[in-house]
Amino acid sequence: MKVCKFGGTSMANAEQIKKVCSIVTSDPDRRIVVVSAPGKRFDSDTKITDMLIDCANRYLKNEDYETVLKAIVERYAEIARDLKLNEQITKDIENNLITRVSLPYNSSEKFMDRMKAAGEDNAARLVAFYLESQGIKAQYVNPRDAGLFLSDEYGNARVLPQSFKNLTRLKDMEGIIIFPGFFGYSLSGEVVTFPRGGSDITGSILAAALEVDVYENFTDVDSVFVANPKLIKDPKPISELTYREMRELSYAGFSVLHEETLEPVFQRGIPVNIRNTNNPSAPGTFITPTRDNHMNPVAGIAGDKGFCSININKYMMNREIGFGRKVLQILEEEFVPFEHMPSGIDDISIIIRKKYMDDEKKSRIMERVAKELRVDSISIEYDLGLVMVVGEGMKHTVGITHRIAKALALNGVNIRMINQGSSEVSIMLGVCEDDVDKAIVSIYDEFFK
Ligand code: ASP
Repeated sequence: MKVCKFGGTSMANAEQIKKVCSIVTSDPDRRIVVVSAPGKRFDSDTKITDMLIDCANRYLKNEDYETVLKAIVERYAEIARDLKLNEQITKDIENNLITRVSLPYNSSEKFMDRMKAAGEDNAARLVAFYLESQGIKAQYVNPRDAGLFLSDEYGNARVLPQSFKNLTRLKDMEGIIIFPGFFGYSLSGEVVTFPRGGSDITGSILAAALEVDVYENFTDVDSVFVANPKLIKDPKPISELTYREMRELSYAGFSVLHEETLEPVFQRGIPVNIRNTNNPSAPGTFITPTRDNHMNPVAGIAGDKGFCSININKYMMNREIGFGRKVLQILEEEFVPFEHMPSGIDDISIIIRKKYMDDEKKSRIMERVAKELRVDSISIEYDLGLVMVVGEGMKHTVGITHRIAKALALNGVNIRMINQGSSEVSIMLGVCEDDVDKAIVSIYDEFFK
């Protein structure tokens, strides 16, 4: 059995939905289908989820929301017309949206999630209706009926453990199951959504609960690439990646799968196959627990901007027991997570995402570290970018760092810091923010050109 999830661009219009249905029906193992809300039809288009958020915000501010609501209904109506469906489905969708707006609510976040979830919910009803109209046995399944229960963290929910057992009942249902992504229910019965892009998480939870052979994640690219195609023309595709490599790459800016997506499948060792709805014969990229990494020790290169580094220096730091703990305790008390902590004998740098530190927090941390730890100097560097070179095979290969450093030196990129975790699955390079793109291109050329 396979779980397949289709993203927003695969659901954007009737033509795309037809492709989805032909992919699903071409393989009898594709029994469970998770759908996103219709996404962009063209670059400047608006996703239905964004329209729903706009509509909800207007309603909450007592502004005209009806125009947006009508536009949302029209998006579905157009799809239904192009699929030659009975008008009833559009009426049902319209009523569903009107009910969501008019039902009472006791907090704006609950109302917002109820509205956001409408995108996937109605898309799933529509796809099930279309398949049935083609004489294919299919049914829409509501996440509450299936037992997908989530924590009541609105817009940022996490799955509750009992959901996995509940969802096994989907196995016994007849026909193709069309399941809306992105939301579930709290134990008190409210609609709750995952973070944005969360339909991937729904697919992963279902794949894990049903212990399927593969979780197919259909999007609009043939595969994951070694580096960002916006920076490198025709970058090399990746046919296989491990969970750990994927996690490291998405941490540093790869935006293929939502960060939390892999956790449920990872726990059970279920492979993920990223594939293209517009080119279903392409094999795509497999994400698996292990891979044969002897041929290509470097799997991918990613980079991200927006970091800063607190640099602390104190003579004889290495002899002072508990120094690191005390610094981290200050960060903990300020609720600031840290990303990396490269150190020398007398200095330590703590790398933090800038978004976690406002000016007030920054001065408080600096002051406390200076005073409580009696350091010789403390400074903060702002324009820091990180480049990650990722690959499980680097562990067995001599000379990777040499090649990276050579590529950067030849292209005039200064390495401000370098860090390799003990697992050797990634090498982190701290460079000036303005150099991140150049660094990625230089390293790509060294290893893949
Ligand atoms: N429709 C939601 C979003 O745009 C969830 C998803 O597509 O995965 O974020």
